[in-house]
Amino acid sequence: MTKPIAIAIHGGAGTILKSMLTPELEAEYTLALNEAVSAGYKILKQGGTSLDAVQASVVSLENCYLFNAGKGAVFNSIGKHEMDASIMEGQFLKAGAVSSVQNIKNPVVLARAVMDQSEHVFLTANGAMEFAKARTIETAPDDYFFVQHRYDQWQSVKDTDHYNLDHVAEPTDKKFGTVGAVALDSLGNLAAATSTGGMTNKKYGRVGDSPIIGAGTYANNSTCAISCTGHGELFIRRVVAYDISCLMEYKGLSLKQACDVVVYDKLVKIEGEGGLIALDTAGNIELPFNSEGMYRASVNTQGKVFVGIYK
Ligand code: ASP
Repeated sequence: MTKPIAIAIHGGAGTILKSMLTPELEAEYTLALNEAVSAGYKILKQGGTSLDAVQASVVSLENCYLFNAGKGAVFNSIGKHEMDASIMEGQFLKAGAVSSVQNIKNPVVLARAVMDQSEHVFLTANGAMEFAKARTIETAPDDYFFVQHRYDQWQSVKDTDHYNLDHVAEPTDKKFGTVGAVALDSLGNLAAATSTGGMTNKKYGRVGDSPIIGAGTYANNSTCAISCTGHGELFIRRVVAYDISCLMEYKGLSLKQACDVVVYDKLVKIEGEGGLIALDTAGNIELPFNSEGMYRASVNTQGKVFVGIYK
């Protein structure tokens, strides 16, 4: 009997209401999510690894201007794109992460290189960029990352103490456009990856949950694979991704029970808005969020494709 394969992706959570998207934009998001989930699923289908699958899906989302990762990353308080990313596999618990990198076309590829080609788990800022240069990781000029509506978002909060989650319609609305993927391959191995530009007008040097193993990303074959999106500070304080794994490992909760406790109770209690994608070794998929919407897609163990945006 062949082992089950499955994959899920997200393109950020937040105040995403049907009334805010034109039919054209909704169609564009749907297409981009479809393409990204297919990129990873194709690899799994051909017998590839979950690590390669999550990387391929995240690269596809990073290359799409609609999402806050890679091209389309938000502006920080000094008008730069500082990006964070991480990747982890569930068999040996190997992981790689980078934070505050600039001009790296695909930060998830750099996180993977840290995992595969260094003795370290986490490199930051200039050190991470030097590491990239030495390995000919693809770079891109500032122009490549520029997207007008992200610039407009930044202009509306620039020079204030506000920092915004992505996909905002109004400066006070909250939307997070981080991207991520979780996958289960035919060898039964789980993997997770997350990539983000962070939050609009975040302080120079601010790092969110996305590159932090255990907060925004986690994978462990004995429990689950998780990638988060939401207000990073709260996700760090709740150690969200690892907490779900712990609830399964120590308390024997199912994937769904563990996700529900963390997303709808523990996070809500500290006003931690957002969501996550989760997958276990049986191929169960959970896509919980406590915000208005979350860009998400999955292909389950039956090969059934799902794409969702709103609640
Ligand atoms: N979690 C990300 C951060 O705080 C933001 C997001 O999910 O869009 O950096």
